[in-house]
Amino acid sequence: MKVPTLDKLLEDQLKDIYSAESQLLKALPKMAKAASTPALKAALTAHLEETRGQVERLTRVGEHLGIAKLTGKKCAAMEGLIEEGKEALEMEAPPAILDLAIIAAAQRVEHYEMAAYGTARAIAEHLGHGEVVKLLQETLDQESAADEKLTAVASDAVFPSIKEGPEDEVEDDEDEDEKPAPKKKATPTKAARK
Ligand code: FE
Ligand code: FE
Ligand code: ZN
Ligand code: FE
Repeated sequence: MKVPTLDKLLEDQLKDIYSAESQLLKALPKMAKAASTPALKAALTAHLEETRGQVERLTRVGEHLGIAKLTGKKCAAMEGLIEEGKEALEMEAPPAILDLAIIAAAQRVEHYEMAAYGTARAIAEHLGHGEVVKLLQETLDQESAADEKLTAVASDAVFPSIKEGPEDEVEDDEDEDEKPAPKKKATPTKAARK
């Protein structure tokens, strides 16, 4: 592919991002559906809404730059990240563990987007497209906030719901109304047999 100018590179980058966001519009609902922790479901659903706005914003960026259409390119990286996300969704795991796998996949996605928008914004800045810089920064801020939200959901809601703690700190909980506590592994028995 010939990319003789910075304008062309920006166009190519924007098409890649457009493809990435479009793929996410299909993947995020599946991730939200598979999530159990209400805060995670809510975060993913809220980000799906934001993503719709991001696609809209990209269209405005394209219009400003006189790019006829942003379709026609496939972001291979997002395809791969979503593929990994699918592996998470297919895991046979307790709900909280599955939620953490979903968060791990979702944060990889957000970081990829942050890198992509950051670079595109820098190119637009160099080319003096102030309006485009503003639009790309708005989305970049949303991606970054989504990433931080996922970190907060993990530490405030998902990890606390998991009984397993650091070794030797597993509490002997009398409450049996929740998931059965993970069985202590056979290690002590094995040691005793020696
Ligand atoms: Fe996005
Ligand atoms: Fe890409
Ligand atoms: Zn401009
Ligand atoms: Fe995002």
